[in-house]
Amino acid sequence: MTNADPAAPTLFERIVARQIPAQIVYEDDDYIAIRDIAPKAPVHLLVIPKRVSTRIDEITDAGEMGRLWLTATKVAREHLGDYRLVVNAGRGGGQEVFHTHIHILGGWEGASPVGFGQ
Ligand code: AMP
Repeated sequence: MTNADPAAPTLFERIVARQIPAQIVYEDDDYIAIRDIAPKAPVHLLVIPKRVSTRIDEITDAGEMGRLWLTATKVAREHLGDYRLVVNAGRGGGQEVFHTHIHILGGWEGASPVGFGQ
């Protein structure tokens, strides 16, 4: 799911603009959080900065990076006790939507999440 035309709005910009429907769980002036359409965990949310960057390492301002992660942890704690945050960077890192976002995954309820020494 690449953004073939770099001038075209990304999928997530279109969600912010309400051109594509999504289950929005949080929104402020700078961020939106939605439910992932193809969840990889019982609870799977995406925290998306409205200011477009292609991938996480394009964000070089510490304040901007900090606010993104603070929003992710705030949204995570609103929905989950324990959780995992994931960022895919680039095709080789599993990124499919080239608009920076943080995955919030959780809700395994005692079952083990996949990976990390399980
Ligand atoms: P990534 O692979 O890190 O780029 O993650 C992109 C995520 O966006 C995937 O987990 C997809 O399931 C999710 N996704 C794709 N299209 C939509 C959509 N229309 N609404 C919500 N989530 C989506």
